[in-house]
Amino acid sequence: MTAYADFYRQSIDQPDIFWREQAGLIEWKTPPQQVCDYSNPPFAKWFVGGTTNLCHNAVDRHLATRAGQSALVAISTETDTERSYSFAELHAEVQRMAAVLQGLGVKKGDRVLIYMPMIAEAAFAMLACVRIGALHSVVFGGFASGSLASRIEDAEPVAVVSADAGSRGGKVVPYKPLLDEAIALSKHKPAAVLMINRGLAPMHLQPRRDHDWAALREQHLNTVVPCEWVESTHPSYTLYTSGTTGKPKGVQRDTGGYTVALAASMKHIFDAKAGDVYFATSDIGWVVGHSYIVYGPLIAGMTTIMYEGLPTRPDAGVWWSIVEKYQVTHMFSAPTAVRVLKKQDPAYLAKYNVKSLKALWLAGEPLDEPTAQWISDALSVPIIDNYWQTETGWPILTLANGVQQQTTRFGSPGKAMYGYHVKLIDESNGEELTAPNQKGVVAIEGPLPPGCMQTVWRDDARFVNTYWKSIPGRLIYSTFDWGIRDADGYHFILGRTDDVINVAGHRLGTREIEESIASHPNIAEVAVVGVADSLKGQVAMAFAVARDASGLTHEAARLKLEGEVMKQVDSQLGAVARPSRVYFVSVLPKTRSGKLLRRALQAVAERRDPGDLTTMEDPAALQQVKDLVG
Ligand code: AMP
Repeated sequence: MTAYADFYRQSIDQPDIFWREQAGLIEWKTPPQQVCDYSNPPFAKWFVGGTTNLCHNAVDRHLATRAGQSALVAISTETDTERSYSFAELHAEVQRMAAVLQGLGVKKGDRVLIYMPMIAEAAFAMLACVRIGALHSVVFGGFASGSLASRIEDAEPVAVVSADAGSRGGKVVPYKPLLDEAIALSKHKPAAVLMINRGLAPMHLQPRRDHDWAALREQHLNTVVPCEWVESTHPSYTLYTSGTTGKPKGVQRDTGGYTVALAASMKHIFDAKAGDVYFATSDIGWVVGHSYIVYGPLIAGMTTIMYEGLPTRPDAGVWWSIVEKYQVTHMFSAPTAVRVLKKQDPAYLAKYNVKSLKALWLAGEPLDEPTAQWISDALSVPIIDNYWQTETGWPILTLANGVQQQTTRFGSPGKAMYGYHVKLIDESNGEELTAPNQKGVVAIEGPLPPGCMQTVWRDDARFVNTYWKSIPGRLIYSTFDWGIRDADGYHFILGRTDDVINVAGHRLGTREIEESIASHPNIAEVAVVGVADSLKGQVAMAFAVARDASGLTHEAARLKLEGEVMKQVDSQLGAVARPSRVYFVSVLPKTRSGKLLRRALQAVAERRDPGDLTTMEDPAALQQVKDLVG
């Protein structure tokens, strides 16, 4: 057996011994008494009896040895600012934010919703929440008022932390009006709103409810806010993600398991050491931002870089200039970003010295071989694909190069990571597929390892019913992805089994987009499908039936309605969810029993063979789609 195979086997066969050792990577106030309590499957309680604090492990713990080392560097090519915070400075800022939140009434167990651009205060707010035992719920800044409102309603935050505006490609995007609208739409009204004023957009502060961060910060320059020692199982945060139904799910994470899982991943997967520099180009609104912009690198005593801006502005060399300037050792991005850079002049890359880089990790969507090959040739470092989900919090499949150097196989995110008992399940009969190269649903036998979701926020039944299935004697978690595994244990991911689509690494539920479009007064019915796209991986495409189609024979009228629908999605969900096209049809392809033939619709939209159509009600429905997409 190889070193990694042994390591993996121990994690599966002797999880108590394995994870007890990993638990030693973090600091506990009270050490855990039991490694895992799985007496009530599929609910796993990790490190029972232990008390710890995520902020302590990310910040305070390092003060003794690296107080002066840069902990967080916030770079914005949108506002042309760059600011570095040492661990000591970060410690001070987080305590100020924690004191302000406490002053606004936030207590242990309360939720704080964070709706922020990529600025340092967003990380302060996250760390401040977990410092005092409050749960943060970060909502991606690109989401609009409807998405925000549904999350506010579900999380019921005591306070919201936000900023006047974000900026994208030099264009200011005001946040406050969207936030005000979201609060107006939501049944739950947060008692307090804390606004960071970047001076980008004018904003109106509502008396009593809204507060100015700068003014309150001044009152707490030297306030000491100790870490609240919480049970290992105390939730650290919720993060919403899309699924099959329209309503997003609040993925709930614990404290001890997550801290251990991240510390272990920094060591075994990223082979990272304190003092190294980590640059993840994601956003704090996504899980990568939580695990690998904020918590993971800080837990490991690394410097983490937060970046606001595009990969191509002021030019396509901007990321590599950051790598050179800060001597970045670990970089994490998404395949779409690489595909964007690939379209630019390669001379930009050659301009900078990127020799400090040990590897580039890519995740969030399938990594195609030509893209992997291009960036591999350009950087001359290992390109490491990694596959995981909001639900799991850290990679399920990748290469654990900290345990044993392994060869990258382009097209594959690699092997099952320690702790994940990965299986492929035959969808037709629920049985495990053990022979190599068979296609099945990627599944994980319970318990999920530390760091994965504990449950769906306030909805245990939804957690059980959505994700878990029993196969004789065991409970299996479904990832909702198709995959195959070759004889050497390398996996290949073949797309989602459900109605989730992946646009430029952003996970979107087609049902959510459909609901938004269907609320337009002139839309009777709509189907949204994901269609392959050479740049973004997939784009959303909508096929709609208008209530009043009389004017739609004219191109101008169709374009007008299409524009209105797109605007509606922009204003309700955000531009990330906007379909690339809205086509108008007189009827949607359905079975005789009225079920939408989504797969067939998607196939035709991708100009593929739709397969068996014997159950279809009206064959003309697909012909219309064929004619429209050309
Ligand atoms: P999210 O929860 O937003 O991180 O999205 C998770 C989903 O993105 C997975 O279930 C996959 O469908 C897809 N995904 C993430 N990483 C990869 C990868 N490396 N290769 C293929 N698909 C991926």
